[in-house]
Amino acid sequence: MSLLVVGSMAFDSIKSPFGEVERVVGGSATYFSLAASYLTPVRLVSVVGKDFPKGTLDMLSARGIDLQGLKVAEGITFQWKGYYEYDLNVAHTVKTDLNVFENFAPVLPASYRESRYVFLGNIDPKLQLDILAQVREPKIVALDTMNFWIGKSPQLLREVIRSVDIVVVNEAEIRELTGEFNLVKAARKMMRMGPGRVVIKRGEYGVLYLSGGEIFAAPAYPLETIFDPTGAGDSFAGGFMGYLASRDGAALTEMDYRLATIYGSAIASFTVEAFSTERLQGLSREEIDSRLAAFRSLTEFRV
Ligand code: AMP
Repeated sequence: MSLLVVGSMAFDSIKSPFGEVERVVGGSATYFSLAASYLTPVRLVSVVGKDFPKGTLDMLSARGIDLQGLKVAEGITFQWKGYYEYDLNVAHTVKTDLNVFENFAPVLPASYRESRYVFLGNIDPKLQLDILAQVREPKIVALDTMNFWIGKSPQLLREVIRSVDIVVVNEAEIRELTGEFNLVKAARKMMRMGPGRVVIKRGEYGVLYLSGGEIFAAPAYPLETIFDPTGAGDSFAGGFMGYLASRDGAALTEMDYRLATIYGSAIASFTVEAFSTERLQGLSREEIDSRLAAFRSLTEFRV
């Protein structure tokens, strides 16, 4: 069953302790859709400028990602410049240029309106609300955001949060959104705002999933080579939502949400092995399966 994503498509300029790249392809919707495409068909809503490489669009199409909802506008593509210090869990933004996103008013293609799974990726909350209003009867809607939008549009963001089922954010963002430092308290406070489930991304410390009385913790895969954490959060969300969408028709259990958390963690672990989408775009089913098995042995124990 199809999964709809709205989010950024970008040129990123990134410096990490392990290297530096200029104007490589990035963006929340790019990472999300690639990650999810290994598990379910994806419909993408975004905007790029005429400067965006056709080769990347062809690569996304070749992965079965539906680009009918992608607008190629006059003007230049969204750009993000950032850096990481040795603490790779914290991305420092140097510059955000919205460019073609300034005037983007998405109209969903008719076929997208029936989407049952929706991911409101990191982008202007106004666009997230616009998209949500155009989907007829979604089964699961999840949302991500970042400090940029928490600071810029806090009211609109609260409005979107109220209308979604799952919030998938990193630990700094949930602290900022709720004013709670303790992550369990922060998640409970977030759930009182509307969403029934909260996923907290903690970079190299893994992920916490909370719903009602449940807490599930997934580790991050302990890699020897990490180049660039950019896109890990969106790739996690793509694997997480991609798995849930792939189970459409089944009554989802808490065990499905746990497995979704592991799928997200496994797919995200590839993204950080190279800059941009280099590693993520050419995965095989065998590589994903063997990493899932590695997660199982990483956490398996008996009492
Ligand atoms: P993450 O998965 O959290 O590492 O997100 C990385 C992606 O977010 C990068 O490829 C950026 O292009 C994109 N990004 C950075 N700032 C913003 C923003 N304010 N709105 C939307 N996307 C952004």
